[in-house]
Amino acid sequence: MLSTRRLAPDLKGQVLTPQDSAYDEARTVFAAHIDRRPAVIARVAGPDDIARVIAYARATGSELAVRSGGHSPAGHGVCDGGIVIDLSALRAFELDAAGRTAWAGGGLTAGAFTVAAGEHGLATGFGDTGSVGIGGITLAGGIGFLVRKHGLTIDNLLAAEIVTADGRLRRVDPETEPELFWALRGGGGNFGVVTRLKYRLHPVDTVVGGLLCLPATPEVIAGFVAEADAAPDELSTIANVMPAPPLPFVPEELHGGLVVMAKMVYAGDVEAGERAVAPFRALAKPVADLLRPMKYTEMYPDEQGYRLTAVANTMFAGGVGFRQAETILERIGQSPATMAACEIRVLGGAMAHVPADATAFAHRQSRMMINVAAIYDPSTSERSDHAAWARGLSAELDDGDPGAYAGLLADEGEERVRAAYPGATWERLAAVKAAYDPDNVFRLNQNIRPTRRPASMPHIDDLSS
Ligand SMILES: Cc1cc2nc3c(=O)[nH]c(=O)nc-3n(C[C@H](O)[C@H](O)[C@H](O)COP(=O)(O)OP(=O)(O)OC[C@H]3O[C@@H](n4cnc5c(N)ncnc54)[C@H](O)[C@@H]3O)c2cc1C
Repeated sequence: MLSTRRLAPDLKGQVLTPQDSAYDEARTVFAAHIDRRPAVIARVAGPDDIARVIAYARATGSELAVRSGGHSPAGHGVCDGGIVIDLSALRAFELDAAGRTAWAGGGLTAGAFTVAAGEHGLATGFGDTGSVGIGGITLAGGIGFLVRKHGLTIDNLLAAEIVTADGRLRRVDPETEPELFWALRGGGGNFGVVTRLKYRLHPVDTVVGGLLCLPATPEVIAGFVAEADAAPDELSTIANVMPAPPLPFVPEELHGGLVVMAKMVYAGDVEAGERAVAPFRALAKPVADLLRPMKYTEMYPDEQGYRLTAVANTMFAGGVGFRQAETILERIGQSPATMAACEIRVLGGAMAHVPADATAFAHRQSRMMINVAAIYDPSTSERSDHAAWARGLSAELDDGDPGAYAGLLADEGEERVRAAYPGATWERLAAVKAAYDPDNVFRLNQNIRPTRRPASMPHIDDLSS
């Protein structure tokens, strides 16, 4: 049993144990099937606290989890019996509006960042959910509403500050410790605890955005994908084929019927945006059309702290045509889940203009990302059945792109982590891991085990900023 007696007095931040009233909320993560009880949750106040917790974890041989927004599908932000480094107090946002850059704390959420930058008509792209932490999404890559216009989140990362396994605070950027900076852009939490991140911002103020809900037929799904692929880079789409939820804007008689529920953002001139979304509106009479000129920040509405019990399968694909659309509809119809969905994100644009080896996210040429998901009730059905369903549909949609997105992987074993980091990316990440975390202190993540350190890569003790 870990004692907090040695740890707590040394930290500026708060230390929570099972006796504290705030403990249960602090150990709760988004994935509702995860119920882990760490011995200690350290709400760190900054790099010094983090270095102390790392040293304590190493000295006691404790498992160490790092938590930002708590949205890891694997529940990697919490552990059983070990220590959690909780970054939620690191929320500073320092904007240089004229220079269009911002430093943000590693515990800030995507929504809070977007609102703060949005006050100045500026934005960096994150994902589709405001409560996701900028720490986790940035280190995974970051695929969201601006992906075709401004690239992945990591394409806008200019620098980071990180406490590595030796307790040192390092500033990394393209010139300083460039291999580590390469690895951080997609390689997840393998290399240390990122305390601050510096981003490039873009003028993104009024967009044509919102939700378009269409009846789901094979023609509409295939047509939607074709239009999204042909659209200007300003337009990014995230389309879910799913049963229509009982939301106020969906006519009651259509609840439960299959629809394409698409979030869309045209980041550019409003008139051009209206022209760009017109072909989508013309695919079928919309079930609901909530597309309109809006502030970009409205794409991140307030969330009520919801959690989901879900199982999902992430993959990349070259296309979704009529035949695949038929398969999606058939399989969703057969799923016993409370809500089964197939999410399709057409990629390309700015994301694809970056060379595949420029960052540890290597799927630049993949045309689309698909995420097959089942939200289920664990009291009435087995997780393994829904997982088999998700894998089955994914296999039918597989058209030869073997990749996976690290950010949406659950606990799926090394083969799937390797799919996220194909070929040379894996070898290069393993070498950086060997240099900066040779003992694999940071292993509660999509783990890259350290290889034997190559002669060209210095030992962590020799690395200095
Ligand atoms: C509802 C939902 C919607 C999503 N939508 C998108 C989307 O649109 N686009 C997309 O790209 N991804 C999306 N994701 C995936 C998401 O980006 C990743 O799961 C991400 O890792 C979550 O980050 P977090 O900080 O919230 O999670 P956490 O669980 O807190 O962190 C996940 C892991 O990242 C590492 N980590 C986090 N912060 C740090 C840090 N500061 N320093 C070191 N390591 C750190 C740790 O290993 C940690 O265990 C979504 C996930 C969910 C659940």
